[in-house]
Formats: sequence, C-alpha cells, structure tokens
Amino acid sequence: MDYKIHISGLAQGSYVYEFPVKGDLFQEFDNQQIKGADINVTVTLEKGSGWMNAVIEGQGTATVECDRCLDDLEVPVSFNESLAIRSARLGEETETSDEFIIVDPSEAEVDLKQFIYDYICVNMPLVSVHPEGKCNPQMLAKLDSLRSADGKGQEDNDIYSPFSGLKDLLKKK
Ligand SMILES: [Zn+2]
Repeated sequence: MDYKIHISGLAQGSYVYEFPVKGDLFQEFDNQQIKGADINVTVTLEKGSGWMNAVIEGQGTATVECDRCLDDLEVPVSFNESLAIRSARLGEETETSDEFIIVDPSEAEVDLKQFIYDYICVNMPLVSVHPEGKCNPQMLAKLDSLRSADGKGQEDNDIYSPFSGLKDLLKKK
C-alpha cells in the first residue's frame, strides 16, 4: 500500500484522495504497540497559484494492548492536520518540519506515508484500558498470579485474606 499523491501538472483546484490504513503500516515501521488498524485517511489537496496545501484527516480505530489486562483493545483514532507542500530544488531549502514538506520540482509525486504514520501515532490515547469490568478476567487472573509469585506487596494482604489458605492449597498441587 502506498500513500502517494500525484502533484505534477495538476491544475489549480481541490483534489480528494482516500487512504485506508490497516495494520501493515505499523508493521512496516516496526511499531509493536499498534497491532492493527482500520482508519480512513482522507487527504484534501488544494492547489493554488504557486502553493499547495494538504489537509489530512483520519478517522477510525486502532488495536493496542490494554494497559491493565494486556488483552487486545480497540481505541478510537481521529486527527485533522494541515501540511503545506513547498516546491524547492535540492539544496535550496533543506529543512523539513511537521508543518511542511519540501518537494523537488522534478518530483511527480509526494509520499505522505511518514506523515500519516506520525499523525496516527501522536493522536493515540495516552492511556488505553478497557472500561471498568471489561478486562479479560483470565488475563487478569494470570497477571495476578504472576504478581503474587513475585511476592511484592502481597504478603501483608495474605495474612488477613480469607483466601490465603485456599491459595496455599492451590500451590501444593
Ligand atoms: Zn483490559
């Protein structure tokens, strides 16, 4: 899947491109956090006299690991960014930034892959957990037993816990 838009020889006006983003984009960037995605990215390219601007909008979901139970979790992703496309010969202007992309006048296409990837990554929720009570109970139990095997902070609770005897029984098996 490529994320290129053709820019050479375009008449002034407005052009719309659709890019369906799936999990393969994140595999390509070796991103282990985003395991899957279903995001519709719409690029609206405006071409004026001597300038070009792209509005890049995304709407959809990404699959990540739940911070609490480590099971798959679907989170909403949406963004709306503006990117100016500047034309310059190599060496004239070498700086790139988040707000604009520099394209050599001889280039027929502009590749938006890196930008689309970055927009999605920076717009991911900071905390991703299932709603209360919706975590995978088996995963939680497994994590709990791993934590108590570590012995961290569990001893005090065990003394008063009505289940501490039961836990010992289970351990003997
Ligand atoms: Zn969860």
